[in-house]
Amino acid sequence: MRGAVEGIAERISSIGVSSTMQVAADAAALRARGVDVVDLGAGEPDFPTPGNIKQAAVRALEENFTKYTAAAGTPELRQAVCEAHARDFGTAYKPEECIVTAGGKHAIFGFTQALIDPGDEVVIPVPYWVTYRDVVNYAGGRCVFVETEEANGFALTAAMIAAHLSGRSRMVIVNSPANPSGAIVDRGEFEKIVRLASERGIYVLTDECYCHILYDSAPFSAASLPGAKDTLLVAGSLSKTYAMTGWRIGFGLAPAPIVAAMTKLQSHSTSNPNSIAQKAAVEALSGPQDSVAAMLAEYRRRRDFVVRRLRAIPGITCVEPRGAFYVFPNVSAALGKNGMETTAQLAGRLLAEARVAVVPGEAFGAGRRLRISYAASMAELDRGLDRLRDFLVKYS
Ligand code: GLU
Repeated sequence: MRGAVEGIAERISSIGVSSTMQVAADAAALRARGVDVVDLGAGEPDFPTPGNIKQAAVRALEENFTKYTAAAGTPELRQAVCEAHARDFGTAYKPEECIVTAGGKHAIFGFTQALIDPGDEVVIPVPYWVTYRDVVNYAGGRCVFVETEEANGFALTAAMIAAHLSGRSRMVIVNSPANPSGAIVDRGEFEKIVRLASERGIYVLTDECYCHILYDSAPFSAASLPGAKDTLLVAGSLSKTYAMTGWRIGFGLAPAPIVAAMTKLQSHSTSNPNSIAQKAAVEALSGPQDSVAAMLAEYRRRRDFVVRRLRAIPGITCVEPRGAFYVFPNVSAALGKNGMETTAQLAGRLLAEARVAVVPGEAFGAGRRLRISYAASMAELDRGLDRLRDFLVKYS
């Protein structure tokens, strides 16, 4: 059967363009026309990639490390990923349980392609990062959404997941700290989730993209829990931790047969992750880690600033994020008037009239909110929040 658009395959018609990437593209297009846009849309660190990492890439070029590598990544990098994960979280992965991918997103894509058959159910907490829904749909799976409560800081519990499992459940996706809410699943709750999943014979895909950006708790990986490895699929990323979004290096940690299945797919799709970026990634993971702490200190300063400024705007409520670099304020008070029924309409008007880019809550399955990224400089945040406040006051 063919998709809704003439000639386009059904599986492509089942997905949309990533809303986060779309907002970034819209803001960039306006900027290219000379418009002064404050971009608080896509979650992309404004910091440059640390110098030692860039130098490793320069060395790779000078040494002509510019050819194909093994499909699953170089043995050196797979080893470095396992060692860094062991150092940071106390886990024990072997290189055959590790695949290097073109960003964390591609590890998530690989996991869903390797494990989801048509009709399989995947439990996804709401609000969710935009890509989870679409990669599950692309695999022919069925998304089963679990609503979390803003009043509880969008906290996810094992009991909430249990209430949504069925005989067709195959996987649950947990993202801690979460994009867009900044919520965290703590060790005790993760233990319950992993126990539940192992009893029911389903996988937990744990997306650790923001695992080093935590404000009130120590870095934690569910993979350090005793006996958890058979149940867990870890998706990791260097993009946020080391300000390396454009380099496209992420990884998956999982039982070796799953890694082998993903490697087969990778050998026919991307061939291998970029060779130069892989050398840089070895340095990122094994070299000095001070830049990680320095960026975290700055994110904390920005979080406090943004939450304070948002809470000062009449009608806005805002949960304080415990990790990652997004706030997800409730803007219900601004909806239902002035032609703005949805946050998509509100975000569209904000960009068109106030020249500030944010992502509408509907993209994350949770309308009535906007996602604001504070991976932007204090000066940009200040300007953006002024514009947001003036816009909301004008239309209140
Ligand atoms: N993950 C970031 C975000 O949510 C970057 C864009 C993307 O990959 O979706 O904005």
